[in-house]
Amino acid sequence: MDSKTEIIKDLRKAMEFYQELGFEHLPVKLSGTDGAPTSATRSKVSERSGVYTADKAKALKELQKEIGDCRRCGLSKGRANIVFGEGSPDAELMFVGEGPGREEDIQARPFVGDAGKVLTSLISRMGLSREEVYIANVVKCRPPSNRNPEEDEMEACGPFIERQTDIISPKVIVALGRFAARRLTGSRIPISRLRGKFYEYRGIPVMPTFHPAYLMRNPRDKWLTWEDAQQVLKRIKK
Ligand code: SF4
Repeated sequence: MDSKTEIIKDLRKAMEFYQELGFEHLPVKLSGTDGAPTSATRSKVSERSGVYTADKAKALKELQKEIGDCRRCGLSKGRANIVFGEGSPDAELMFVGEGPGREEDIQARPFVGDAGKVLTSLISRMGLSREEVYIANVVKCRPPSNRNPEEDEMEACGPFIERQTDIISPKVIVALGRFAARRLTGSRIPISRLRGKFYEYRGIPVMPTFHPAYLMRNPRDKWLTWEDAQQVLKRIKK
């Protein structure tokens, strides 16, 4: 495929995305270097494999074994499964949400319900697949009736997301929603003001953005998350 065809293909993908959101005009200027998904992004991420991958996969398995049948906080009482996280151990990009919902609890996989579809679509629009990124939550067990995780629960589960982050050592983390952003940035500023800028968690740049469940209720804010995603792609390419 020549570069012109590739650019047209990338532009079409970006425009389809905005069309899905109900935009008749593009809210931002797009170009191949401006964050529109490119096949270059895909191949760059795919290049990250080899010696580290096996070690990281082993370390993640060991951590999962260590969590075992965890009873460190009250969320253990109502869960069906611990949702450890999934994706590439060698991922350059990691998504961190707040906690599993009903479907995630049943399947023991993160972001597989309706909000998961929104996240999967965002990942795909970024030119990546779920298998190329890593997805986890700050609490690994479902809060009852999908309530917000409590401070003590995030504190009890905190060492696990810390260790996952250290093992994977991604180039960028995207914190999805208020609670993940609060845990990872330490800031209590509302997510609407926190998003759009990089912070740091364990030496890794963190971009807070809206939670996919919020975007389902407020689809007009999807373009803000898309702007955040563009910044993330630029940072990964550095
Ligand atoms: S949420 Fe985390 S700390 Fe609490 S029981 Fe589940 S795995 Fe353990």
